[in-house]
Amino acid sequence: MGRINQLDRSVYNRISAGEVVENPASVVKELVENAIDAGSTEIEVSIEYGGIKSIIVSDNGCGMEEDDLELCVLPHTTSKIATADDLETVSTLGFRGEALASICAVSKTTIRSKYAQSEDGANYIAVEGGEVIEIGKCNLQKGTSIEVASLFFNTPARFRFLKTPKGEENAVTKLMGELILANPDIAISYVVDGETVFATDGDGLDSAVCIVLGSDVYDCMVGVKISERGYTINGFASRAASAGIKANKNNEIFIINGRIVSDTTMQAVVANAYGGRLMRRTYPSVVLDIVMPFDEVDVNVHPNKKEVRFSDTKLIYGLVYNAVKEALEEDEEYQRKTLVNMLSTSESVEKPSETTSNEYVNPFDSDSDNFSPSNEYANLSDGQKDIYVPEAPVIPTSSRKSANTIKIDIPNWFNYDEDGELTTAAPGDLYFYDSEKELEDERRAAIGYRIVGQFFETYIMVEVGDSVLMIDQHAAHERMLFDKFIEEIKNKVIVQELLFPTEVTVTENQARFFRNHLEEFRKMGFEMETGEEKVIVKTVPVVLTKMDVTEFIQSVDADDKIESVTDVSVFHDKVAQTACKSAIKGGDKLNEAQLEAFIEDYIKSNVPIQCPHGRPTLIKFSKRDIEKMFGRIV
Ligand code: ADP
Ligand code: MG
Repeated sequence: MGRINQLDRSVYNRISAGEVVENPASVVKELVENAIDAGSTEIEVSIEYGGIKSIIVSDNGCGMEEDDLELCVLPHTTSKIATADDLETVSTLGFRGEALASICAVSKTTIRSKYAQSEDGANYIAVEGGEVIEIGKCNLQKGTSIEVASLFFNTPARFRFLKTPKGEENAVTKLMGELILANPDIAISYVVDGETVFATDGDGLDSAVCIVLGSDVYDCMVGVKISERGYTINGFASRAASAGIKANKNNEIFIINGRIVSDTTMQAVVANAYGGRLMRRTYPSVVLDIVMPFDEVDVNVHPNKKEVRFSDTKLIYGLVYNAVKEALEEDEEYQRKTLVNMLSTSESVEKPSETTSNEYVNPFDSDSDNFSPSNEYANLSDGQKDIYVPEAPVIPTSSRKSANTIKIDIPNWFNYDEDGELTTAAPGDLYFYDSEKELEDERRAAIGYRIVGQFFETYIMVEVGDSVLMIDQHAAHERMLFDKFIEEIKNKVIVQELLFPTEVTVTENQARFFRNHLEEFRKMGFEMETGEEKVIVKTVPVVLTKMDVTEFIQSVDADDKIESVTDVSVFHDKVAQTACKSAIKGGDKLNEAQLEAFIEDYIKSNVPIQCPHGRPTLIKFSKRDIEKMFGRIV
C-alpha cells in the first residue's frame, strides 16, 4: 500500500458517510478488512466479554511506517484512494479513511505496527477517546496488531445500546464466519474469552465451509458451479430435506468479489431455485462465491458496504437461479439413478462368459444398458432439460422374481431335463467358491431387493444390497400421485363437467388474469367464462374433482408477470393437496400383495426423494451405518 493521505473534502463528500462503529462486530469487521487490505495471509482475532472489554486483531500484513501510524487515527485518512477518479477503480475493502479514527474516538486503542519494507523496529501509538496518549517503539516481528479496549467508555448513550455480552459475542461470531467464508485463502483464527471458536488454514472454500457451517451441514451440500459472460459462481447448496435446511436464513451467504453482501432479492432467487424442495419457512444452507466485473457492481451504496447494486440484475439473478437449480437437479438425477439401479438391477452380477452356452440371460442387463439418464439428459436442448423426466427401466415382475435366486455362472456340461431341472453333472471340474464370503457376496449381489415389511403401519422397510431403505408410504405415494397429476394436466387431461357451473366472485384483477389465460386453463381442464368481477367454472380436470373450486379460483394470484399458468404456485399447491388427500395414509395397514405392488410402482415411477411438501420420501441406512450404531465398527 502507498502512503496515507488526508482526503480532500470534495472527494470525501462523494463517499456515502455514516457511523461505522455501532457495536463490537462493526469494529471487528473494520479491523479485519484493514488486515486483508494490508495483504495479510494470517489474521488472529480475539475478543473478551463480547468484545466490549477488548478486541485484538493481529495480522502479518505490510504494516505501517512511524509517520503513518500517527496519521491513520485522524479522520478521512487513507492510503487506498487519493482522488475522486480512484473511486471508480477501488478494489480494496476500505477506502473511506474513517474507521480507525471513529474507533479511536470511542475507545482506548493501541496500534502496534512493523513496516515490512524498513529495517527499523516496530512502533506503537496509544489513543484514548480520540486523544493521542503515547507514541513510541515496541516489539513486534511483523504486521500490525490493534487492541481496542473499553468500547464506548466515553459515550454512555451508545454504551447503553449494546446488547448483553453474549448477544454481542454472537454477532461477532456470525461475522467471523462470514469473513472466513469470504476469505478462504487466508488463515484466520477466532478466539472468544481464550477459547478457539474457528481456526482455518487458508486452504480454500471447502474447508472454510466445513469449519464455519460444520461438517454435518457440509456433508449434505452439493457443489454449485457456473461460468458465463465474465461471471463465475462457485459454492455449495444443501440438499433438500437434509441437515442443511434451517429455520432461518443465517446460512445463506453471498460473497461478491470478496465481500459478504446481504441481498433479499438474491435470497428469494435461491428459494425459487429450490422450488418445491423446501417446506414453508425453511431455508437452505448456501454459500455462493460470485466473481464479476468490478464495474458492473456498485458497493458504494451503504457505509457498512453490505448492500450492493448490480447494473444487470437479470443476468446476475438468472445465473444464480440456474446455478443452484442445476446443481440440485444434477445431484438428484444422480441419486435417483443410483437408487433405481440399486432397486432394479444387480449389475454386479457378472454376465455369463461368451464361451459358455447356457441359456441364462440376465433380464436386467439389457435394460440397464439402455438406461442412462445422464447421457440422455446431456443430449437434450436447454428447453427440453427443464421438463425432462428420466424414465426408469420397466422391470417385468416375473423376471424380477427370478432374480431372487442365486445366479452362478453355470458351466455347460450340466444336463437338464425338459423342465429345465438339473439331472446329471458331467464329470470334470465343478466350480467351488474359495470362501464362504465369496459365496455370500455373490448371493447378495444376485438379490434385487427384499421387502422386509411394514412397520408402525406407516413405513416400509426394504433391504437392497448393503443398505436398508425406509420409505414413508404416504409421502412416497403422494409424490407419485402428484407427478402423475401434473403430467396428466400438462398433457392430456380428462375433464369432468360440473353438475351446476360454479359462479365465483373474484377481484377485477383476477377476472382479467383468467380472461388472459382462458385458453391455457381450458387445456388444463378448466372450462370457464369470465365477467367483470366473476368467473363461472363449467369443468374441472378429473384429478382435481375433490378440490373446492371456489377456494381454488379465489386463491389464484393475479400476477401479470406469470407467463404460464401451470407454473402458478397455488395451482401446484392444489395438486399437492389433492395428491395428499388421495394418497395412502400413514396408519393404513398394507398386506403383502399391496406392499409388493406398491414398491414395484415406486421403483417404476422413479420417485424423487421429496414429497410435494418437501419432506423426504425415503431414508437410507447403509450396513456400515447400522454396524456403527451397534458399535461393531467405529
Ligand atoms: P480505510 O481502510 O478506509 O483506508 P481506515 O481508517 O480503516 O481507512 O484505515 C486508515 C489507513 O490505515 C488505511 O488506509 C491503511 O493505510 C492503514 N491501516 C489500517 N489498518 C492497517 C493494517 N492492519 N495494516 C496496515 N495498514 C493499515
Ligand atoms: Mg478500513
